Amino acid sequence: MQMTYDPNNIFAKILAGEIPCHKVYEDDAVLSFMDIMPRSPGHLLVIPKAPARNLLDIAPDVLTKLILQTQRIAKAAVSVLGADGLTLQQFSEAAGGQEVFHIHFHVLPRWEGIRLQSHPAPKADMAVLAEQAAKIRAALG
Ligand code: AMP
Repeated sequence: MQMTYDPNNIFAKILAGEIPCHKVYEDDAVLSFMDIMPRSPGHLLVIPKAPARNLLDIAPDVLTKLILQTQRIAKAAVSVLGADGLTLQQFSEAAGGQEVFHIHFHVLPRWEGIRLQSHPAPKADMAVLAEQAAKIRAALG
């Protein structure tokens, strides 16, 4: 199994500011932004700034900060978007469904009776993503 971190992955480029994102939250250890192909309204990603491919190589202290912020952001998203629940996903390695090899948690707000869009979902309207990101940012304070 290939376990080397590739610094040219798309999320490393977002972290470097080379590719834009609809930012939800940032601190010294974590960045969160909207998924551009959302499988539910408000689908967002939470990533560490430190390089790691996935759950199989992330350092425990980095994972701790990542999951704590993921919980905080997920609660804000569910509350401000009026969701009924939440699905949290993390895929490790291609065999596990991973496509971007910088670890990320998917935060998927859920509504009763509404299924997740299948993958790959259509690219979102950027104005809608900007509006959702602004709402969640405001809820985080
Ligand atoms: P996976 O690696 O399978 O867990 O999923 C990667 C996710 O990243 C998918 O949900 C994509 O829609 C999402 N994605 C890919 N490129 C971008 C990007 N530039 N900005 C935001 N999300 C992205």
